[in-house]
Amino acid sequence: MWGEATYRATRALRAEQQRADDSVQRLRDFVAAIQASPNGVILLDPEGRIEWCNDIAARHFGIDPQRDRMQHIGNLVREPAFTAYYASKDYDRDVKVIGRDDKPGHPVKLSVHLHPYGGGHKLMLSNDVTALAQADAMRRDFVANVSHEIRTPLTVLAGFVETMQSLPLDAQERERYLGLMAAQSERMQTLVNDLLTLSRLEGSPPPAGDPVDLGPLMAQCEAEARGLSDLLHPAEGKPQKLRFGEPPAFQLAGAAGELRSAVSNLINNAVRYTPGGGGIDVQWERLPDGRARLAVTDTGPGIAPEHLSRLGERFYRVDRSRSRESGGTGLGLAITKHVAQRHGGELQVSSQLGKGSTFALVFPAQRVRTLTLVAAAPGDRLNAA
Ligand code: ADP
Repeated sequence: MWGEATYRATRALRAEQQRADDSVQRLRDFVAAIQASPNGVILLDPEGRIEWCNDIAARHFGIDPQRDRMQHIGNLVREPAFTAYYASKDYDRDVKVIGRDDKPGHPVKLSVHLHPYGGGHKLMLSNDVTALAQADAMRRDFVANVSHEIRTPLTVLAGFVETMQSLPLDAQERERYLGLMAAQSERMQTLVNDLLTLSRLEGSPPPAGDPVDLGPLMAQCEAEARGLSDLLHPAEGKPQKLRFGEPPAFQLAGAAGELRSAVSNLINNAVRYTPGGGGIDVQWERLPDGRARLAVTDTGPGIAPEHLSRLGERFYRVDRSRSRESGGTGLGLAITKHVAQRHGGELQVSSQLGKGSTFALVFPAQRVRTLTLVAAAPGDRLNAA
């Protein structure tokens, strides 16, 4: 009888132990699942003390999960916006706070949301919204920039219209005013065209890989650049020296129109920013690793190092007045950078203040189609290999 009783008791104990082990395992799985969450999670007791937090929450708020257990959350998240939110007991919305890792040049913005549960406890979720906040700020800046860029010529244009309506002008004055008005409307047109180009580039998939002949493309860019250079620095003054290398012995797979506008933006910028008497050198080359590189080098004013990383941002200009004087929209390099990236390439800039700049487009080897001379054909011709 005793044997039987001992056996039953041992079996019951083992079953109990098994149940306890299962519970511990379930708790571990549960904690592991919360640890795997991309959000910060903190459990607060009814007094607002930290019962538990995951590693992400610890990082967001600089909490030590062991040492800070049972610390009041208000001692660790001291921002007034959070204190007011916590006290308001209105937890339908979230609150934005600055993260513990926030530093100048490395902003960290968090969205924090409290969710009450079981008898006064609270679940506190935090979420890194830095990228979202930055995208939002960029969108606001962009709208402000576009409005500003359009408002300036529009104000001038409206002023001229008013003058022409209210003052009796002789034929010569009328002609002069109309010329100035035409220049302003052209400026707005260029801006709108650049904006449309940018939005087309951003909203469409990367271009298919039809091979593009670079010879005619470069000839077109060269003619355009020489025309612009003659206009800005006529031969009787101090003309610029433009040098174009041999057309490359390869084709590039991509969108011809996009490539043309990327290349012409770089060459025209060199012409616009380099003073009379300066030189501009345009050269394609094949890099040892098979990539193709177009370098546009000028002896212009150069760009200080602190600006280099920001070139290619929409409306970022080093020299505002110079850009406007020469009809710039501040979008040329943004378009060029986009085109390069859509073709799997990149825009590289190196420059020395007072010495000049080199803007280069580098395209991946997969987009390069080598041209070979087919000697056997009647009359030599070029073939893409
Ligand atoms: P913009 O229409 O103002 O020329 P871009 O996007 O083409 O706009 O260029 C951005 C800025 O980069 C210019 O405003 C100018 O300050 C600078 N920049 C571009 N190319 C050159 C260059 N070749 N030499 C010196 N500065 C340049």
